[in-house]
Amino acid sequence: MDVQFVKTAVLPQGTAPADEADALRTIEVCGRTAYKSEDKITEDSARSFVLMLKKHGHLSVLEHSNVVLKIRNAGDAPGTLPGDLLPRLLGPRMAYHRIHEMRGEGAFALAGNLRGWIETLDHIENRNSDMHRFLLHALNRFFPSIFEAHERAAPWQHIETSLVDTDEQLAWLRKDPSSDLPVFVFKFVCDRGITHEVVRHRVLSFTQESTRYVNYRNRGMTLILPEELYPYYDDETADFPTRDPLVTMWIDRAKTIFEWYRQDLGRGARPEIARDILPNLLKSEIFVSGRWSGWKHFVLLRDSSHAHPRIRGIAREVRKHFESIGMKFD
Ligand SMILES: Cc1cc2nc3c(=O)[nH]c(=O)nc-3n(C[C@H](O)[C@H](O)[C@H](O)COP(=O)(O)OP(=O)(O)OC[C@H]3O[C@@H](n4cnc5c(N)ncnc54)[C@H](O)[C@@H]3O)c2cc1C
Repeated sequence: MDVQFVKTAVLPQGTAPADEADALRTIEVCGRTAYKSEDKITEDSARSFVLMLKKHGHLSVLEHSNVVLKIRNAGDAPGTLPGDLLPRLLGPRMAYHRIHEMRGEGAFALAGNLRGWIETLDHIENRNSDMHRFLLHALNRFFPSIFEAHERAAPWQHIETSLVDTDEQLAWLRKDPSSDLPVFVFKFVCDRGITHEVVRHRVLSFTQESTRYVNYRNRGMTLILPEELYPYYDDETADFPTRDPLVTMWIDRAKTIFEWYRQDLGRGARPEIARDILPNLLKSEIFVSGRWSGWKHFVLLRDSSHAHPRIRGIAREVRKHFESIGMKFD
């Protein structure tokens, strides 16, 4: 079929994995959505895909990740690298990290996504070489594909680092929402008008199907089902069993637009130019990641009678997901 309609969908992807192999797989899945090249995913394609993104500086895709280091002073030297010193050492880079003090354990957790960590290391490289070496050693231990080992030994041998797994991050979040350590990844299938609203939430991270790179000529054009067509739509077949005049009107409109798109490609236009004629209702897949604080803000703004009904529907599903894992929005 040249033209088809699908419903808006919210697909929670869980928390960004702590383990390197799983983390790279998540990034690959998010990244390949942009080019719709998911068919190229194999057992061992993730590492080279993520390294390619890193090399080309497409670091926003690496934001769909989370590395939470637990840093503990295991020696007798008091006070080296306490959590409250870190904000001063990392300076403006703290905007991209979370610190959670683990009182009673003499430890704290320092979280950041892979992009955050890469750029933080660049930032501190010449400013505080001990700190740079210390963090690089820790990150290299857990994410050796992304962080190359430092040739010199790590400083501050009495300070232990370990990785906080996602269960522990979630347990802390439930107990104290201000800890804000896990990163939650969602996939939305929605129209381009709505993705434009979603990406206004700057504290979240996004990777979206690209109308510049994807050529719809052979795939067909998929639009999001407008609400007025819901009564005529069959979920099983993703089609309209009866052709009410309203259904016919929408299909005719869509076919006309798609024909214009194909004509422009036929005249030699690249997809990024031919897309000019595509409608707001074009289906788009977008991965969105963020911490509880960012998602809470999203839900409070968008699950509202002032919001567009379609983003409100999305926000309601996001709300339900968080409530199902014990988080409250009051
Ligand atoms: C009902 C509704 C109607 C809307 N109508 C319009 C409209 O007509 N036109 C339009 O352009 N947009 C509109 N928007 C979008 C709106 O203006 C925001 O861009 C969007 O809701 C994201 O909200 P935010 O900036 O609070 O969230 P985020 O960008 O996720 O920011 C979260 C928090 O981070 C902090 N923050 C992030 N970036 C900065 C920064 N640069 N400086 C300071 N603090 C920062 C703030 O504390 C902020 O609360 C509308 C939104 C809603 C919900």
